[in-house]
Amino acid sequence: MMDIPSQVYVSARKIYRKLTSKNLGLREVLYEQIINDSPARTNSYLSALLEYATAHIPYYKNLISSHSYNSSNFSELPILTKSIIRENFDNLKSDELASRGYYFNSSGGSTGKPLQVIQDAEYEEWREATELFFYRQFLDIEPVATSQVILWGSQTDIQQQTKKKNLTTRQKLLNIIQPQKTFLNSFKMTKKDLHEYVDAINHKKPKLIKSYAGSLYQLAKFVKENNLSIHSPKRIHTSAETLRQFMRELIEEVFNCKIYDFYGSREVGAIAGECAKGKMHIFNFNNHLEVVDKNNKPVQPGEEGRILITTLHNYSMPLIRYEIGDTGILGKPCNCGSKLPTLEKITGRVKDHFLTREGTLIDGGYFTRQFYFRNWIDEFQVLQTEFEKIDIYYVPIGQPVEDEMAEICDKIKQAMGEKCEIKWHQVEEVPRTPQGKLLYTRSLVEN
Ligand SMILES: [Zn+2]
Repeated sequence: MMDIPSQVYVSARKIYRKLTSKNLGLREVLYEQIINDSPARTNSYLSALLEYATAHIPYYKNLISSHSYNSSNFSELPILTKSIIRENFDNLKSDELASRGYYFNSSGGSTGKPLQVIQDAEYEEWREATELFFYRQFLDIEPVATSQVILWGSQTDIQQQTKKKNLTTRQKLLNIIQPQKTFLNSFKMTKKDLHEYVDAINHKKPKLIKSYAGSLYQLAKFVKENNLSIHSPKRIHTSAETLRQFMRELIEEVFNCKIYDFYGSREVGAIAGECAKGKMHIFNFNNHLEVVDKNNKPVQPGEEGRILITTLHNYSMPLIRYEIGDTGILGKPCNCGSKLPTLEKITGRVKDHFLTREGTLIDGGYFTRQFYFRNWIDEFQVLQTEFEKIDIYYVPIGQPVEDEMAEICDKIKQAMGEKCEIKWHQVEEVPRTPQGKLLYTRSLVEN
């Protein structure tokens, strides 16, 4: 394994690439290919990937060739879970790794151990080209030339800032390439910080605000409650967390601007992005997406199921039918002009669902709904520790309202059963995940 931390390596290579005109050219070529390619391209990418995996990935050698899997019977291939990846890490590596410009990356791991994967230069080109596609086609902006405020809080980025020897060169390069980016730390969101963030946005007047959904919701709530005025950007781009409807409504109202939500992850890159008509389009030239039932068979559009992702361009460690841990519903074609298929809804992480002893899955949204319009609660988390045990962590504003607490308990019992024990814990801050996310609902009960 390499000594260089993966994120430092990724950033350094990315910056280097952006500085060289040769590689900028390559991104343009990829981008053209995305726009002009035929509808059959996902299948041809899948066929090429399966062929490569059979020849170069020990884990897939026997598995694929002994069952003659190809792009037409693809959905019969066994799925790849996080634990399979951990147990077979070495067998999932390409035998050509050394020549592929590879690096290590790690998933967010918001509800468990982070997952390590290997990615390479070609994967990275596609990831960047896909994001560029999203900015240009859906947001109608040129990201490099657009002033941006980014409300973000990645643990690795923050650790990186403490590594002084990397800081100077990196910052100098960043200043050359991205003079218009202002980073605000979503890890620190005290009232004083929020005031400063409002000032920064009003001063910088960015065309684009990019943020975790939850962090921007918190900022919007602060602006509204304190009757402040805030600059309205041309575009808002949220990602990394489930954007719930009540969050969308408040953010769009306060900033007087439509949100373009984005769905992706560190281990697979860009998956889908929202168009001007509000539909999530699947970037099927970068990742193949399936929605499947409990037998891992594809479900019809409109039906909810588990999301499986196949990375089409990461030959160093192909993830084929990878269970990412989210659930969703495939949608109908969109009338915005884009032919890319749609996701009707990402219904949240599997762990966002609470499981009852009878085996019923309750959507996390059911629990968050019970906290709407409770003005005495600043932030909260509903945590299921056992089938019939729920802890509610909350930060009050003033005195808790006992009648409303009882009402919330009643609603939770209606879903989880009368025997369900609910405990309230008053805290100063609900603990964030290592990535700085605030999860409104979380379940430790295994499906
Ligand atoms: Zn659309």
